Amino acid sequence: MGQLRSLWTALFPPKNDRPGYAMICEKVRALEGQFKAVHVGTQAFAKAAGLKCPRGCGACCAGTSVEATELEMLPLAVSLVEDGEAEIWYNLAEQRAFRGGCVFYKPGRKTGEGSCAQYAYRPLVCRLFGYSGNPDKDGKIRFSACTRLRQEQASCIAQANEGIAAGRLNIPVMTQEVMKLTGIDAGLARDLIPINMAFKRAVERVWLSQGRFACNRST
Ligand code: SF4
Repeated sequence: MGQLRSLWTALFPPKNDRPGYAMICEKVRALEGQFKAVHVGTQAFAKAAGLKCPRGCGACCAGTSVEATELEMLPLAVSLVEDGEAEIWYNLAEQRAFRGGCVFYKPGRKTGEGSCAQYAYRPLVCRLFGYSGNPDKDGKIRFSACTRLRQEQASCIAQANEGIAAGRLNIPVMTQEVMKLTGIDAGLARDLIPINMAFKRAVERVWLSQGRFACNRST
């Protein structure tokens, strides 16, 4: 009986024991560690610099140019698959042909009411977008503010750049964070693609690793 059970488990491992899925979970744990550190870094920077995204703005989420890698969408994909909600979001994204603004953005009825439906699992790009820096042509780190912040909080931005240059302010650096992504999985971090497409690929990868996707498609 014991042998039969071992054979059965080897042939049909419980979904969380499937090797592909276990590898995905390992990457998700590494990503969550990175995401948490980035969150702490961006919040500390914004507070020290006196910067704040305009409430409910969502301009970066609703625009058609938001791009992500498949890798950074994995935590969200795993969370939705495990909660049984992936198919709903996948179908919503499919209705848009996986193009356009981010499918997770909820614009709200009035200006200033926009929000992210999956804020806790949002990808790296969303965590970095408002409050991160990049090296300029001389290799000095500069705050990469969005258009709206540049228009509305210009003096804070100038002070933030002074603080960064003087070493008084720390800011997460986009290029360094991308390198960390590459360290987690260079292949899945290589292509920057429209966010809905990156979500699609991540969900399909999770489904495949659980042996579900092929099953769904064959019926
Ligand atoms: S995942 Fe959330 S924060 Fe990121 S673009 Fe979509 S709605 Fe915006």
